[in-house]
Amino acid sequence: MAGLAASSLTPESFDLMTQFAGRKAALMTMDLLSEESKLRYRSFFPCGDMLIGLRYHETNPGRTAFKAGRALKIIDGKIVSEARKDVQFVQPLVPHHSEHVYGFWHINEAQEMSLNLKLDDNRRLTVLVEGFPERGRKDRFAWYCLSCVTPLYMAEVETGRVGLGGYYSVQEDAFEVFNGDEKVRTCRSCGTVHPVAYSIFPWKDSREEKEARQCW
Ligand SMILES: [Zn+2]
Repeated sequence: MAGLAASSLTPESFDLMTQFAGRKAALMTMDLLSEESKLRYRSFFPCGDMLIGLRYHETNPGRTAFKAGRALKIIDGKIVSEARKDVQFVQPLVPHHSEHVYGFWHINEAQEMSLNLKLDDNRRLTVLVEGFPERGRKDRFAWYCLSCVTPLYMAEVETGRVGLGGYYSVQEDAFEVFNGDEKVRTCRSCGTVHPVAYSIFPWKDSREEKEARQCW
């Protein structure tokens, strides 16, 4: 019996397990309520193979929080409001938009997960989790008519190749086109004019973008 027990672990496994136990990986923790976390994760922050983002929602938004709004998706040609649940997913290629947080429809080739935490009666926090963009993965910034869901404009970026810096620079270029020309924002089908786009950085808003953030 003693011989059997000794042979149940191969020398290779023994060596591997010894290596694993001796790894010097950093402990990785997040304190959701610290000011440092609020700043570090306000965009998307790489944590190993993941991107993490923190979105604070408050009835009275301050510098680091957004006004509470609906989570919207476009499904079967309609704009649908999804009830906030503890854990939510966005499947790949489903246009989604978070009211007052970012003013475009994000179309991701990868899946996203969000964890919704209630901090108190007036404050909620969404923890966004997605895979770190692989080479070849694209993000799209899109706008559809809010009345009849006719496509208006879209820009795409290969985030896996150009990184987050490239992601934001393509986004800014798209905003310039979309916000700079009312013709681009006018629905060819029903004539509705779309409000301007805005980013997840409220302190960068122009007057027009600030107004748009309040309304969609
Ligand atoms: Zn329309």
